[in-house]
Amino acid sequence: MSFSHILGQERVIEILKRLFAGNRFPQGLLFYGPSGVGKRTTALELAKALNCLSVNGKQLMVNDFPCDTCLSCQKIDKGIHPDVRIISPEKETIGIDQIRELNRDSQWKPFEGSYKVYILEKTEKLTQEAANSFLKTLEEPPPQVLFVLISENKDTLLPTILSRCWVLPFSGLSEKVIGGILQRSIFNYPQEILPSEYFFAGRMQEIIFNEDFSLLYQKIETFWQNMFSFTEVEMLSLSEEYSKDKEKTGKFLTLLLLFARSRKYWQAVEFINQTKNQIQRNLNRQLALDCLLLKLKSLCR
Ligand SMILES: [Zn+2]
Repeated sequence: MSFSHILGQERVIEILKRLFAGNRFPQGLLFYGPSGVGKRTTALELAKALNCLSVNGKQLMVNDFPCDTCLSCQKIDKGIHPDVRIISPEKETIGIDQIRELNRDSQWKPFEGSYKVYILEKTEKLTQEAANSFLKTLEEPPPQVLFVLISENKDTLLPTILSRCWVLPFSGLSEKVIGGILQRSIFNYPQEILPSEYFFAGRMQEIIFNEDFSLLYQKIETFWQNMFSFTEVEMLSLSEEYSKDKEKTGKFLTLLLLFARSRKYWQAVEFINQTKNQIQRNLNRQLALDCLLLKLKSLCR
């Protein structure tokens, strides 16, 4: 998607571009800021830029760089590049075993790219032991390695880790930026309907830029058009499918909400918001979705 598609973070992108042009990249970067504003996306774009095989792009640092089309960019987009790794909390924490493995792995030269890039998600979840172990690698990083640390709250990180990183703050997205993302991503999204508060706190940008976004959105569109002819059994199997895990339910409800808003189905918007609240208050997900779908169906009559 290239840097030009990361919206609302012009300052960060400008700094990264300058670092890039000066060819003096720090080996530790910390991206911090609210959830859903593009930290992870930017880290991945950076990994692509550092490994992009399109030489012209590197020289010019033009807007559509990284190229997105070379083998390296494609592999990173698919999550199969051997030199780009994402480390996320397993269960609740990033533990010592994960960091020992990272420390070992980072000592090897890049396998096929120019740079090894390690993206640590939710860095604040490092256990004390893991943080201390990681610190040693960060103090003397192997050449051709970049660590991108991502966090929503930098104040919970060890000061010694912070002091070894370039710290780049990501800002929350303005209504205007979110509106722009929606209009670009969803055909016919009406300009006058501003996204609700929810989208600022949520993972809107991630969801929209995810490759299965348009697929799921189409599915919801079809579902809505055919809801009237759906039998109860079909409805219930749908809610079973989308209540399997928390993330799936969240995504489904977000897109359903987007769809309802874009069509100005305000009663449906209210039902969906109620369901979101119920789930946040720990009501059984499948039960909540069952009720929602039946209520939506009743609107079609
Ligand atoms: Zn490329």
